[in-house]
Amino acid sequence: PPNARIAVVTGGNKGIGLEVCRQLAGAGVTVVLTARDETRGAAAVEKLREAGLSDVIFHQLEITDAPSIARLADFLKARFGKLDILINNASILGVEYLLDPSLTSEEKFSGMDKGQRLEWLTSGVRGTYDAAREGLQTNYYGTKHVIEALLPLLQASSDGRIVNVSSEWGLRLITNEELKQELNDVEKLTEARLDEVLDAFLNDFKAGELGARGWPEHFSAYKVSKVTMNAYSRILATRHPELRVNCAHPGYVNTDMSIHSGPLTPEEGAANVVKVALLPEGGVTGAFFADGEEAPFV
Ligand code: NDP
Repeated sequence: PPNARIAVVTGGNKGIGLEVCRQLAGAGVTVVLTARDETRGAAAVEKLREAGLSDVIFHQLEITDAPSIARLADFLKARFGKLDILINNASILGVEYLLDPSLTSEEKFSGMDKGQRLEWLTSGVRGTYDAAREGLQTNYYGTKHVIEALLPLLQASSDGRIVNVSSEWGLRLITNEELKQELNDVEKLTEARLDEVLDAFLNDFKAGELGARGWPEHFSAYKVSKVTMNAYSRILATRHPELRVNCAHPGYVNTDMSIHSGPLTPEEGAANVVKVALLPEGGVTGAFFADGEEAPFV
């Protein structure tokens, strides 16, 4: 449709991202479903088309790969000349998995009941430095680089929106009070300072001092990446009053990431994200939404 809004969803091939694509397309938005893997992404688009959603387009996007991001930006510019909605959904847990990674998640977890899956989610992973670094590179820097590349296209929209899919695992998990206050003081906070904070986190990780320095100790990189992504969103919202930049916690959802331990369906989790993406014009910016409702950054 000529006047349709255009949305990009990262990590759209499965889980919450796939359902976000389905719901946005169902609401009449033209959806660019992106995935790092062409085969998985094309299969997801096919699934949505079979369900009667014809206005879904596939484009490859690996959010840690600058050329891949640039190709997506070029494609959007040439095809639409603007972007109305960017959903930064792609993310990883930033831990090393102890089970054979060549098994698909279904093979790995099909024999387990929910309790065993939850147990596995805590004891079947190990926090290593390399995995933590990859977690920050993906969840924080990957998201930031996608936003930076697509910003001019969002500004070309009359109502550009960014929704960063975040987590309720937030500021309260950082026990270093000074740092917590600093990350919450958006007026003073800068991107350069966020880089320093992330470098300090990695140094403390390497030195085995996470707990002593007031960082979370389990899924630490994931939590720190989401907290800093939230802070970055708030900086952006202040700098770009022409855009709506918000964060959304989808709820605890039954996906591969949660080893299928969450109580919400991917549809329900996605609805909590889509609601923020489709807020009425002129709505809040720089805000946090948990389970579909505005909430404090905690
Ligand atoms: P999944 O693991 O099911 O899906 C994650 C998606 O991100 C996949 O499509 C994956 O692609 C993609 N992805 C990962 N790394 C990259 C990358 N470098 N470049 C491009 N795509 C990438 O997770 P969920 O659906 O559960 O999570 C979606 C979002 O919701 C995440 O931001 C997560 O942090 C958040 N969230 C989830 C909760 C839950 O309970 N599930 C709770 C709170 C927040 P591939 O298939 O190729 O791996």
